[in-house]
Amino acid sequence: MNNKKGILIVVEGIDGAGKSTLAKGLANKLTTLGKDVILTFEPTAGQYGRRLRESFTSEKRLTLDEELELFMLDRKEHVESLLIPALSKGKVIICDRYYFSTMAYQGARGADPQDIQARNEAFYPVPDLLLIPVLPAREAVNRIRIIRKDRPNNFEQLAYLEKVSMIFDNITGDYVERLDARLGIEELLGEAVKVYEKRFCDCLKDTSNQ
Ligand code: ADP
Ligand code: MG
Repeated sequence: MNNKKGILIVVEGIDGAGKSTLAKGLANKLTTLGKDVILTFEPTAGQYGRRLRESFTSEKRLTLDEELELFMLDRKEHVESLLIPALSKGKVIICDRYYFSTMAYQGARGADPQDIQARNEAFYPVPDLLLIPVLPAREAVNRIRIIRKDRPNNFEQLAYLEKVSMIFDNITGDYVERLDARLGIEELLGEAVKVYEKRFCDCLKDTSNQ
């Protein structure tokens, strides 16, 4: 995967950590500054992603093997139809969840995170930057309950999220940047922008009104 020209930025972390808010904020910021940005997410809105989403709120959770298979099929479709073409066109992709979530969530159910990582990295592009907003699982569950006025779904129970969180904490690699998810929305975005500038030697001065 060395022939790509674009940038793949992945946002990962537990539910309620602020990933989607951050991914959207960063995409807006980079777009405003003239970058050619694509904001995307997994599970996707495609056939396999939809089946996964339906299962999240269902009474009966899929088996681990069924979940793993659907995530892999969904990712294959996502990578082939969107990520690879966009990277080869030089776009900046911001992806809300990717294979690190499969490592963490299916790992917390008993799969081997290293094995999942190896299987994904054999076929799919490794990110240039992996942003992980870190929030203690208890606070994440409170955010889901209080702010989102929602009941935690199958993936969001505290004991399970604590296991998920431990797997995220053990992810290493020179593309990893952890951020303090307890910062306010704007501050957190500011930290992500600083990381972007440092990593890609790209100073994001706002020139839109000059
Ligand atoms: P995730 O995608 O990680 O599940 P969201 O971005 O959906 O998280 O955020 C979960 C909830 O927390 C939302 O109601 C959102 O408005 C709020 N939120 C997001 N980021 C922050 C933050 N930095 N500080 C406080 N609340 C936040
Ligand atoms: Mg989200």
